[in-house]
Amino acid sequence: MSDAGAAETLFERIIAGEIPAEVVYQDDATFAFRDINPQARVHVLVVPRKRYRNVGELAEADPELLSRVLVTARKVAEIEEISESGYRVVFNTDADAGQTVFHVHAHVLGGEQLGLFGK
Ligand code: 5GP
Repeated sequence: MSDAGAAETLFERIIAGEIPAEVVYQDDATFAFRDINPQARVHVLVVPRKRYRNVGELAEADPELLSRVLVTARKVAEIEEISESGYRVVFNTDADAGQTVFHVHAHVLGGEQLGLFGK
């Protein structure tokens, strides 16, 4: 279910241009901007304009929109010239994964050799 009725999140304010961000790509359904605290040389967040809390809710409610997010992640990789060297797409989901903004977002990470992850 969409969280449309819940309080506005930081990312809706970024999409609306109320909070400045370095936009990498946008289209009618998705919005991509640089993470303020990059964890790799390239670290871009991809969000659907329509808010869902996390990737599971998005997948269940609107698989086509999830696909759009993933296609935008690939476009970001092309724009950032990391599509051939490789990159990682991460969706943190809820507390143990460290999700802090409850508007689903894909982290696109790359531009250097990434470490193994888990903890
Ligand atoms: P999460 O921890 O929810 O998976 O990811 C949230 C991400 O949003 C973090 O990587 C954090 O650095 C980023 N972030 C938090 N506040 C801002 C902001 O004001 N602007 C931008 N561009 N990124 C932000």
